[in-house]
Amino acid sequence: MPPHDPHSYTDLSQARIEHIAFRLEVDFEERRIHGRASYRLDRPCRGPLDLDTRGLDILAVHSAGAPLRWDLGADEPILGQRMRLADLGGRREVEIQFRTRPEAGALQWLTPEQTGGGQHPYLFTQCQPINARTVFPCQDSPSVRFTYEAEVLAPTPLTAVMAAAVRGAEDAGPARRFRFSMPQPIPSYLFALAVGDITRRDLGPRTAVFTEPYLADDAAWEFAQTEQMLAEGERLFGPYDWERYDMLVLPPSFPYGGMENPRLTFMTPTIVAGNRALVNLIAHELAHSWTGNLVTNATWEDFWLNEGWTTYAERRIIEVLEGPEGANLRAQTGRNTMFRDMRNFGMDSDPTRLKFSQKGIDPESVVSYVPYEKGYSFLVALERVVGRSAFDRFAREYIGDHRFQSLTTEAFVDYLQRKLPAAARAVNLRAWLYEPGFPDDAPSFPSSLADAVSERLFDYQEQGRLPQREQVADWTSSQTYLFLQMLPRPLPLEDCRTLDQILDMAHTRIVVNLSNFLNISIRSGYQEVLPRVEALVGSVGRMFVIEPVFRALATTPWSRPLARPLFERYRERHHPITVSTIEGVLHREGL
Ligand SMILES: [Zn+2]
Repeated sequence: MPPHDPHSYTDLSQARIEHIAFRLEVDFEERRIHGRASYRLDRPCRGPLDLDTRGLDILAVHSAGAPLRWDLGADEPILGQRMRLADLGGRREVEIQFRTRPEAGALQWLTPEQTGGGQHPYLFTQCQPINARTVFPCQDSPSVRFTYEAEVLAPTPLTAVMAAAVRGAEDAGPARRFRFSMPQPIPSYLFALAVGDITRRDLGPRTAVFTEPYLADDAAWEFAQTEQMLAEGERLFGPYDWERYDMLVLPPSFPYGGMENPRLTFMTPTIVAGNRALVNLIAHELAHSWTGNLVTNATWEDFWLNEGWTTYAERRIIEVLEGPEGANLRAQTGRNTMFRDMRNFGMDSDPTRLKFSQKGIDPESVVSYVPYEKGYSFLVALERVVGRSAFDRFAREYIGDHRFQSLTTEAFVDYLQRKLPAAARAVNLRAWLYEPGFPDDAPSFPSSLADAVSERLFDYQEQGRLPQREQVADWTSSQTYLFLQMLPRPLPLEDCRTLDQILDMAHTRIVVNLSNFLNISIRSGYQEVLPRVEALVGSVGRMFVIEPVFRALATTPWSRPLARPLFERYRERHHPITVSTIEGVLHREGL
């Protein structure tokens, strides 16, 4: 059977992994995880079994107590090495002993200085999209799901947490043994582990936040609306199938806003802003519990099914918290970001399509706002054809019918045509799903909050008049964000200085706004911001925040010579994913 997934050696005609029992020992000195995994397959296995690995040391393979033959194929740059197990002779069990390498793509090992607390080392995983294979051999394709149990040995006094149910912990010599089980089947990219100085605060009957102790109180306040969001998610999409929804706030080098690891979302600490301005991130990760984790893309080529639906669900939850005006404002800023990404790729390029062939393409290199925002707009276009109540019924049924399954774009289209034929006929499916760029007849998102911002922009662009401080004093962070997004660049130097004061940029805790302001400032030659640029890229790892800053530095003549040395000063602080992204930006600019 030809491979169904361009990013995995998984062969769906072979047996599939059904359950894994892990024993993992976390070794901060060697920066390795020493692991043993016992696999149970979904059927008796005859003939070879192919697994994904990349940069993983395989030490031994056994089945039924006897050594089993295996080999590793050529090392491909994106895929890694195929691990082929010899004929299991009709058995369903196999045990593999392995060891991760210090440079494993999914693992970030932090020194105490790289954490917020500064006292203890920290380890966290990021397996999406294709990095689980650097932690353990697996069928690393989102179309294969397994349950698991795990024993994790971590040095005292550290705490291990996993995106799984906690089953207990006990002392084991100089270490502590933590036990977990994951009763709901997950694709490999949702495997997640963190070890560090981690404490817990309960938020509600089904929700809690885990974080380094210094941030615990602030995080608990910031995340207080989570239980309400969970209730809204259930009202929209049906029962919450994962029992608990906890969140882990990571140290600053976490490269994303959030990662929807089931039962334990991983979050950037930049979300703890002191004003709940970034709760849309929580809504987004929570929404993945239905759209993504429960109903999953079959391959990374179908990523929009995951992120487009999740952005739709996020905005529906935000609508309850902030009203339609707030949700539509966020839809506008999201679309602006999507257009920025499309322009960076080229408006006719493949990554502006919702689905395109990714054979030979690293899925991380084409991550952008396109699957999120073009996918979102497509779903809103469908909703507006049939009306909200019909679409809500469709969404609930779609999720109910595909629980714990993975599907392709084509399977979704087929389902849509059967269940919502009027919408499937009225909307140009081919243009939305397969063509580059953005349809002219895409839905718009009216918002009086956005209109207020447009008026101030009009004043500036037509009459050169910047807003007065009192005109922006009651703006939400999202309004400020939209204003910064829409400002022309470069600006006159004096205007940068004035805006700096009017918007109180020296004191903002909303790093996405600061990032936008720094971008404008760099492009405008407002060099006074340099210390703030340095502070930001030295302390925040979230790519969405620092990538545009590096892009501005690298493309503006005065700052161009500064970009590479600045990056090198902080390279060690950052996650491998962030490092390779910034390297890409600098490389493209010849730096
Ligand atoms: Zn997402």
